[in-house]
Amino acid sequence: MMKAKPVNYKSTCSYCGVGCGILVEQDRQGRLRVEGDKDHPVNRGMLCSKGMNLHYAMQDQSDRLLFPQMRWSKGHPLARVSWDTAMKRAAAVFKSLTGKYGPDSVGFYLSGQCLTEEYYLANKLVKGFIGTNNIDTNSRLCMSSAVAAYTQTLGEDTVPVAYEDLEKADCFLVAGANPAWCHPILFRRLENHRQQHPEVRLIVVDPRKTQTCSQADLHLQLIPGTDVYLYHAIARVLIEEGNIDIDFITQHCENFEQYRRPVFEYTVSEAASTCGIEESDIRLAASWIGNAAGFISMWAMGLNQSVIGVNKNLALISLHLLTGKIGRAGSGPLSLTGQPNAMGGREVGGMATLLPAHRRLDNPLHRQEVAAFWKVPAVPERPGLAATKLFEALESGEVKAVWIMCTNPLVSLPNANQVEAALKKARFVVVQDISGQNQAIPYADLVLPAAGHFEKEGTMTNSERRITYLSKVTAPPGEALPDAEILLRFARAMGFKGFGQKNMAEVFAEHAALTRHTNIDISGLSYKRLQEEGSMQWPVPHPQHTGTSRLFENARFFTESGKARFQPVQPLNLSEQTSPSLPLILTTGRIRDQWHTMTKTGKVNKLKQHISKPFAEIHPDDAAARDIREGDVVVVENTRGQVRTRAVLTAAIRKGVVFMPMHWGKLLGQNFSRTNNLTSSLTDPVSKEPDYKFSAVQVKKYVKP
Ligand code: SF4
Repeated sequence: MMKAKPVNYKSTCSYCGVGCGILVEQDRQGRLRVEGDKDHPVNRGMLCSKGMNLHYAMQDQSDRLLFPQMRWSKGHPLARVSWDTAMKRAAAVFKSLTGKYGPDSVGFYLSGQCLTEEYYLANKLVKGFIGTNNIDTNSRLCMSSAVAAYTQTLGEDTVPVAYEDLEKADCFLVAGANPAWCHPILFRRLENHRQQHPEVRLIVVDPRKTQTCSQADLHLQLIPGTDVYLYHAIARVLIEEGNIDIDFITQHCENFEQYRRPVFEYTVSEAASTCGIEESDIRLAASWIGNAAGFISMWAMGLNQSVIGVNKNLALISLHLLTGKIGRAGSGPLSLTGQPNAMGGREVGGMATLLPAHRRLDNPLHRQEVAAFWKVPAVPERPGLAATKLFEALESGEVKAVWIMCTNPLVSLPNANQVEAALKKARFVVVQDISGQNQAIPYADLVLPAAGHFEKEGTMTNSERRITYLSKVTAPPGEALPDAEILLRFARAMGFKGFGQKNMAEVFAEHAALTRHTNIDISGLSYKRLQEEGSMQWPVPHPQHTGTSRLFENARFFTESGKARFQPVQPLNLSEQTSPSLPLILTTGRIRDQWHTMTKTGKVNKLKQHISKPFAEIHPDDAAARDIREGDVVVVENTRGQVRTRAVLTAAIRKGVVFMPMHWGKLLGQNFSRTNNLTSSLTDPVSKEPDYKFSAVQVKKYVKP
C-alpha cells in the first residue's frame, strides 16, 4: 500500500523579527516538524536553535487554554462558559463602562506576535468603533524609539535597508544589540559575508562583551546611557576631518547647522572620558565609517529601551545622513525588531499614537480619511495611553477595563509589582491567549482561548519590510479560536457594522486598500500573490509590482520637503541616578535560547540545555566588595522590589553594571522572581518606551532568615 506523503506548509518562524521562512511538515500521525525554507530570501534554509525547535513548542499542548472561562463576580473562581456567554458578557461590560465613563475608560493591550490582520481588526474596532485610541502593544517596549526617530529624520517610520544590503556593506556598527544570540540568522549572514571579505569591519557598541563582540574588530564598551556622546564624538571627528558627504547634506538634508551645535559642545576627548572608552577608538570607528563604501548600522534594545531612546536613535541615524550612506547599496540604518510582527503592527497603526499606513493622528485630514474608509463618524484625536501609562491609568482608576491579547505583561512590563497592583484594582480584565501560563490570568474576569501560530492563517512583516504569508497547518485544540475570529465575534456582539469579513484574505485586502496612495502602498498585494509568488517588501503599489528592496535610492525622503532632517539632540542621560545605597546600574536583556517570557521556548528541553536558570552577571570587583562568589545566591534590590537569583562573576561586564535576563517569572511550576520587579516606569518622553537598560540597584549576598 502506498504511504501518504507528509504535507508541507509554508510559514515563518514565530520568534524574532528576522522573519525566517519555514516549512512545516505534518505526518500522518499529525506530528509536526520544522525546517528552514530554502526558497525564502531571508534565511535560505538556515534556522537558529529557537527556530529549529519551534515544532516542539507548538506541539506541546500541556498549558493550552481550551475553552472560555469567566468569573461571575470578583473573588469567584473561573468557570467554563460558552463563547456566546463570554462574548455577551464582554460586550455588556464594555458597553456599560464606555456608556457611563466614556470610551477612554477602557484599554486594549496587544502584542508584536499578533498577525497583521489581527492587529488591523483590533485597531479598527477600538479606534473606529469603540472610539478611543487606548490600544497599545508590547512592541512599545521594544521599538517605539526607532519609530519616532525614523519619523523625525526620514519623514515616516521607514526602514530604508534590505537584508541583501548586508552582503554589500564593508562596515557595520552594531549598537545595543547582540544579534549573534537574538537575531542569529541575520548575524550568520553578516559572518558569512565577513568570511568571504575579511576586510569588512565590525564595530560593536555595548557595555557587555557579548557573543557578538567576540567577532568584533572594535568593541566600544561604553558606560550605559552615554551613547549619544559617542555618536556625537564620531560625528565631530567625521566633520573635522572632512570625511562627510557635503553634496548629500546640502542637496538632500536640512537642519544641519542646528544638529552641529550639540555635536561640538564636547571635545572628542571629553566624550571618550564620559563614555569610559579610548579617544583613539572613537577616531578609529569614525575613520572606518567615513571611509566605507557601504555602512550599515544595526541596533535593538540597547538604544531603544531608554529614557533617551529617541535621542540615541537620532544621533546614530545622523551618521548616515552626514556620510550620505543611506539609500544606496550596502548602506543605511537598520533597526532590528525583537518580535516577529512588530513591523506589521506599525503598518496598521497598531499603537496608541499611530494611524494606519503611517497616517498621523495629529493630522485632521488623515483622521478623516481613516474614518471615511471605516465608515465611522470620526477617529478620536486624543492620543491613547501607551503601554506603561495604560497600566498606570488602570491603577489610578482612570481606565477601568483592559483587554490583554497575546502577551504576558506581568513578566514583560517594567515595574511589574505596580502592574500587578493595577490588575488587582481593575474592574474588568480580559486575557486572550493560547497559554494558561499567562500570569495575568489570576486577575482575569474573562479568559479567552486563542489559536496558536500554526493554527491560523495571516501575514507578518519582518525587520526589512518583508511581508510573508503564513499557512494554517493544524486545527486549534478544544474551543480555541484564531484571535481575529475572537475580535470579529466581539465586534458583532457590540453591534458594530464593518466586521462581516468572511476570511483573512478579505481582512488583508481591506488593510491593503487603506494603504493605497501612501508611502507604504501594498494595494498590489493579495493572499493569492503572496501564496504564489512568495514574500515581498513594501511598497507593492500595483499587481505587477514585485516589491521594493531598498528605499530612498532617489534621495527623496518622506518629509514634506523631500529632504532628510537632521535633529539636534542633547547627549545627557535622564535615567534615574545611582546613589550610595543603590550604586549599581542594572541592564536587562535576553539569552540565546529563550524568548520573551518563555511561555513557548520554556517548554523545549533542548533549549533549556544552554542556560536553564536565571542569573545576575556581576563584575568580579563588585562581587568581591560584597563578599559574593561565583554561584552564590544574591538579592538584587531597589525601592521597587527584590529579585533572588544566582551570581555569575564575569569581567565581560563593566564594573558598576549588573546584567539580568528578562525571561523568567513563575513558569511551569517554577517560581523565579521577575527581573522586571526592579526596572523603572520611566519612559522616553517622545516614544514612551521604558528605560529597561538603566535601573539603580544594590546587590547583596542572600542570607537565610
Ligand atoms: Fe526564528 Fe529569528 Fe531564529 Fe530566524 S533568527 S529562526 S526568525 S528566532
